[in-house]
Amino acid sequence: MAGILFIISAPSGSGKSTLVSELRKQVSGVDFAVSWTTRAPRGSEEDGREYHFTTREEFLRMVDKGLFLEYAEVFGHFYGTARQSLDDALAAGHDLMLDIDVQGAAQVRAKMAEAVGIFVLPPNPKVLRTRLRNRSRAEGVMDEDELFRRLGQARNEIENYRQYGYILVNDVLDRAVAQLEAIVLSERFYRNGEEIAYRSRRVLEVAAACLQANSQERLKPVLEAFGIDGDSGQQQLPFGDEPDDD
Ligand code: ADP
Ligand code: 5GP
Repeated sequence: MAGILFIISAPSGSGKSTLVSELRKQVSGVDFAVSWTTRAPRGSEEDGREYHFTTREEFLRMVDKGLFLEYAEVFGHFYGTARQSLDDALAAGHDLMLDIDVQGAAQVRAKMAEAVGIFVLPPNPKVLRTRLRNRSRAEGVMDEDELFRRLGQARNEIENYRQYGYILVNDVLDRAVAQLEAIVLSERFYRNGEEIAYRSRRVLEVAAACLQANSQERLKPVLEAFGIDGDSGQQQLPFGDEPDDD
């Protein structure tokens, strides 16, 4: 495609929708792929804006027709990216941002190795819980079971961070937005030779610092807060869960 395909993944509640919507206010030419889902709309979500909401039957019909670039079952519901999103971005010469889970990201990478992966981490589990709670409150729904299901899944998703070229820690929002913007601009610079309008060296430095290869020290405390070994990237067994010796 003429544009660049960005994949952004994160544990639910980390702030990726917020980051993407802030990015799109600052940088033009980035389309957002509106996914299809069988989950019900949340809060102020509108059909066709955050998601295309549909039934399981219709979703499975679309799968049979081969309409999805990728799809996965997440938290008991189907989510998928229509191939049409890619075709539309291509026709417009825009970049495309996919906000998809780690399973969907693996499917896209297998088909399009040139996709740019960005993984967003919350600073620690406590902050993640607070964000999920605040979002539920703001949306007027307080489903504690759903909240704990999403929190419980966070560590498994974070274990996949190594599959992504860039890692953002969404602590201070403005900083994370500036980092995401720097990643998009620097990829446009390196891949398409596109000029960066101002402070170009600084932008390239900020993006380079977010490369996973340059992030190990920065990530270690965040990973460890989620019970993941900061060196091996593997889950550490929580105290008391060690296997028996026999
Ligand atoms: P996701 O799309 O990853 O599930 P959201 O973008 O919906 O997450 O963010 C979850 C909640 O956290 C929202 O209420 C959002 O306003 C809030 N939030 C996002 N980023 C930050 C941040 N850096 N600091 C504080 N709150 C944040
Ligand atoms: P939520 O229900 O909070 O909107 O999203 C739950 C999870 O589904 C998030 O991890 C989000 O990235 C993922 N998701 C949203 N759309 C898609 C999609 O089209 N495909 C896949 N594989 N995951 C998606």
